Amino acid sequence: DGGDAPLLVVDEVRRSFGSVKALDGASMTVRRGTVHAIVGPNGSGKTTLLNAVSGLITVDSGKVEFEGRDVTRLAASSRARLGLARTFQQPRVLNSLSVWENIDCGRVSDRQIPWFEEALASYAEEWDALNSGVLPHGQRRFLEVLRALHSGPSIVALDEPAAGLSHAERLEFGQLLRDVASKTSVTVLIVEHDLELVWNIADQITVVDGGRVIASGSPAELRNSKTIAHLFVGV
Ligand code: ADP
Repeated sequence: DGGDAPLLVVDEVRRSFGSVKALDGASMTVRRGTVHAIVGPNGSGKTTLLNAVSGLITVDSGKVEFEGRDVTRLAASSRARLGLARTFQQPRVLNSLSVWENIDCGRVSDRQIPWFEEALASYAEEWDALNSGVLPHGQRRFLEVLRALHSGPSIVALDEPAAGLSHAERLEFGQLLRDVASKTSVTVLIVEHDLELVWNIADQITVVDGGRVIASGSPAELRNSKTIAHLFVGV
């Protein structure tokens, strides 16, 4: 496949809702096998950017390229089949199904990720007897991510997956995401509020403000950037 070519390229994407320019020419490049975080103030366009990537919204202009292919006009379901998996801020868990059924029901391909399938087996054992309706919040969040990974994607796009998790759960969750990127070839694209988590797990960070990308780089590069530090005071 593409070797060093970027997995995902977002080029000058614009999307307005009425008079609100949610994305105002946002561009971003995501490399394979990395944990790539999107951060920024509330209302800056993070979720809209993720939606533009996964195809949950159409864009007014600009381009989204995935694995070298222009997917700008493809529906979310088609992008999922190409290997672009997505989770949501609110876990979408079917309470009447078992945990395993919940994980398996999102499957859109037969691809498997060996390391992940082993990790999944250990979770499934622990949870197997449980009906999904009794899962605590933290485990519902894990379940969503496991379901996305089980679909054999080349990238998982996660919208605030750590929201509502305890500190211990966040550490475990961060480790899962790091493992995914380092032990599989799956790329993790994550919108996340918790900057401590982001600094700990991200290889690359894209900073969004007012619908535009105002900075992009490694945690070390961004920490030294005086121009963006002010955005995160008190986050
Ligand atoms: P973030 O994820 O950074 O908090 P969003 O991408 O959710 O930001 O929103 C960016 C801007 O676009 C906000 O002003 C938000 O109110 C607006 N917006 C997002 N989605 C919609 C929508 N479906 N309808 C109207 N306005 C929206």
